[in-house]
Amino acid sequence: MTVKNFRIFLFLILFASFLTAQDKPKNIIILIGDGMGLNHVALEFLKDGNSLYFSFPFTGLSVTTSADKLITDSAAGATAIATGSKTKNGYVGVDSTGAPLKTLFEAAKDRKKSTGLVILSTITHATPGAFYAHNKSRNRQAEIALDYLQAQVDIAIGSGSSYFYPANLGGRREDNRNLLDDLAQGGYSVIKGFDSEAIIKNHNRRTVVFLDTAEVGYAPKRGYTLGQLTGAALGKLSLDKDGFVLMVEGSQIDWAAHDKDTVNIYTEMADFTTAVQTALEFAKKDKNTLVLVTADHETGGLIINKGRLNESVYTLAYASSSHTAGAVPVFAFGPGANYFTGLYHNDVLGKRLMRLINK
Ligand SMILES: [Zn+2]
Repeated sequence: MTVKNFRIFLFLILFASFLTAQDKPKNIIILIGDGMGLNHVALEFLKDGNSLYFSFPFTGLSVTTSADKLITDSAAGATAIATGSKTKNGYVGVDSTGAPLKTLFEAAKDRKKSTGLVILSTITHATPGAFYAHNKSRNRQAEIALDYLQAQVDIAIGSGSSYFYPANLGGRREDNRNLLDDLAQGGYSVIKGFDSEAIIKNHNRRTVVFLDTAEVGYAPKRGYTLGQLTGAALGKLSLDKDGFVLMVEGSQIDWAAHDKDTVNIYTEMADFTTAVQTALEFAKKDKNTLVLVTADHETGGLIINKGRLNESVYTLAYASSSHTAGAVPVFAFGPGANYFTGLYHNDVLGKRLMRLINK
């Protein structure tokens, strides 16, 4: 090799390593709007020309079919995102044969990264469960709570404490175990109700926040925004110098769409957007965080079919009271965002996330 060639060779190596460093996020925030198709997001960006959805430099489309069905459920949809493998409807973090799949949270732990969940449903629900649990049935939430103990999630904010305590204490566990004791022994701080001070100020290694023992209601009744919950989780997670993976779910967009409840589709979408904003603001400041906004599937076959240009509320029509096979949007910002352009299946999205963590 001549000196000149060697210089070019050296330059190429440096350039390649520069690109790799640029592409590799330290932190990943995945925001999942359950049941959120493109038209659900359009409710946000049609009314506001400056909507933050316009500020994502990369967008893609994710095909949500499951391993056995044209139309997925949340368990199979979230498993594809969280593991990079399609599975059967109802399966959480396991493949079609029932064998456990490695999840993004497990990969994050291998890299000494922290993990976090912020959801408006039970902590043991299908979507969050896919990130840490392995079960052939999404309905076995009491079993999924046992997986939660194993997974050592650093912060979780959600509802469903009843799956953690026994029936004789008013809980839904049949095995008489009180997992709140296990959490306390494991050094978790267990906080009841959303209290951002209590979350930030506790110095325990791990935190579980139970928003409510029952299901939490729709946005106007909650008294906090998903953005506030996300901000509190980020306050904790950002202390980890090795980085983190956070999954935030707008869980109830799906429920409102099942019910063809237009009023609450609007309020849930606006609330979900507060979390997207919090995540984007964090990422813009941090410069080392990938923000991905997507959905597990579309719900409602939602169409905006009447309204005026300068209005902010439109007439909606629904082609279904269930999930549909409509592809869902993907919005990406930050290092690695460029990997999420184009049309791909949801398991490919999961594989790309996994590759970014393992890079
Ligand atoms: Zn649903």
